[in-house]
This record gives sequence, C-alpha cells and structure tokens, in this order.
Amino acid sequence: MQVFGLVGNPVGHSLSPPMHEAAYETRDIDARYVTFEPAADDLAAAVEGARALGVSGLNVTVPYKERVRDLVAVDDLAARIGAVNTVDFGGDEPTGHNTDAAGARRALEVQGDADLDGADAVVVGAGGAGRAVAHGLADGGAAVAIANRTEERAVDLAADVPSATGHGLDVLPGLLGDATVLVNATSVGMEADETPVPADALHGDLVVLDAVYAPLETRLLRDAATAGATTVDGAWMLLYQGAEAFELWTGRRAPVAAMDDALRTRLRDDR
Ligand code: NAP
Repeated sequence: MQVFGLVGNPVGHSLSPPMHEAAYETRDIDARYVTFEPAADDLAAAVEGARALGVSGLNVTVPYKERVRDLVAVDDLAARIGAVNTVDFGGDEPTGHNTDAAGARRALEVQGDADLDGADAVVVGAGGAGRAVAHGLADGGAAVAIANRTEERAVDLAADVPSATGHGLDVLPGLLGDATVLVNATSVGMEADETPVPADALHGDLVVLDAVYAPLETRLLRDAATAGATTVDGAWMLLYQGAEAFELWTGRRAPVAAMDDALRTRLRDDR
C-alpha cells in the first residue's frame, strides 16, 4: 500500500484526505492519504523520515510551504514562487513543486472558460496564494496587475513576475476596467461577509476566481454574479491543485469528477 499525506499545522480540518482517497478508489490504487502535524523544529526530520519510510508523496500547507523549499530539490516554478506545496518521493531524490499556480490556472480555464493568453489579469493579494496565482497566470500568458493592502508587497512581488505591475487596493477600479480575469488571493471573505473589491468596479466581461473556499459563496462572488461576471469558487482551485499533485505522484490523469464530489460533500458536511 502506498502512503501519501499532508504536512502542516494545523491540518485537522483539511479537505485533502477525502479528495485524494476518492481519486485512489476511482483509479483502483491501493493507497492512503494521512495528515501530519510536525513541530516546526522537527520539519526537516519529518521530511527525511517520510522519505526513509517510503512515503510516496506529501502535500505541504501553512506554515511550512516556504521552509520545505529549502529541504528538497525544487523545480523552476516552485523556486520562482518561493514555496513548495507538493513533494514527490518517486525519483532518485525528493523533489518540490508548487501546484497552487496550475490549480488557479486550470480553475479559471476549465470552469471559467477564461483565455489567459494575452489577457489583462488582476490578482488581489501578495501573500503565499497571491505569489502562486500571479506566477501561474503570467506563465499562462497574462499581463498581471497585483493589488495588495500593503502596496510594497505587491510591488516586490511584481518585480519577480514577468509582465507584472504592483499596486495598492485604491487603484483597483482603474485596473479592472480592461481586465478579463480577476482573482482574490487574500483571506478577505473568510471570517466575515466582506470583499476586497468594490462591487461597482466589477463588470460582465470578467471571469472571477475567489481563492477563499470557506464559505464557497463569498461576497465577492455574489457581487461578481450580480455584475454579470463568470464566477469560479475556491473549491475549484483546491480541486485542481490536488489533481495536479495526484498526476505528479502517479503519472495518471486525475479523476476530477470523483475528487470534486468528495471535496464538496466534505465542505457541505463541515458547514
Ligand atoms: P497570507 O500569505 O497570510 O496572505 C494574506 C493576504 O491577504 C495578504 O495579501 C494580505 O495583505 C491580505 N489581507 C489579509 N487581511 C486583509 C484585509 N483585511 N484587507 C485586505 N487584504 C488583506 O495567506 P495565503 O496563504 O496567501 O492565503 C490567502 C487565502 O487564500 C486564504 O483564504 C487561503 O485559504 C486561500 N487559499 C486558497 C487555496 C485554494 O486552493 N483555494 C490555496 C491557497 C490559499 P497584506 O500583505 O497587506 O497583509
């Protein structure tokens, strides 16, 4: 039996176990997906221990995505983002990848029917998710404007992303005028029914992805729907980052419908 897992702290409410185990069942793979909460001081020993025990793959979440980058050989994208969310133990040495970037891109393209190549895209947020999403959209061919509460972080991030610019939140209405893609990569909308984007700046030519997935229907997505925009909820990004990890680990196409079903069932049960 193969073992996959998630390393973070806390991981008790993770949606990844049911999502990945649904994929193993559908593809008839004898595997389990378990969660691990190592102390910060034990992180290096945990990754090395997983390798020594024959664990096949690990996802990595808050607060360890940046630190794991220094513990394994990373691919170009994870190096540029500066964070690893997937470790593959299948090769000669453990390798680190970042599937959040492709997760956001696939969510926009598959569920939002967005055409990123040549698009003007706006990413709100310059934290961990913002970094991954900005690189993912730029790799898809979009010109990315990054807007963040702390403007300096947006400017710093934009310096690392091809064709990107950095801004404060105050200029969002101007940035959104010609944009066709908008991603909220802040945590705004999670704790309270709030949005980082003024409703009257939204319009019908936008595809809007909210990385927040609890709640699924955020105020931003409700405002976007009212403005006639196409909306994509955060569970789609979560699903496709998981699908990308599954594909990296197994070399097989992810059964996204089964994974989506398991993910949304757990989200409904948690409500
Ligand atoms: P993070 O690194 O802590 O970054 C938080 C971001 O939110 C920063 O840009 C921060 O701006 C901004 N922010 C926080 N409070 C704000 C407020 N009141 N007004 C305006 N901006 C505010 O967090 P993260 O890891 O990037 O995660 C961000 C969100 O993405 C979380 O909700 C997380 O669950 C979600 N996420 C979803 C997926 C998925 O697959 N769907 C994947 C990863 C993350 P400052 O820089 O000014 O502090």
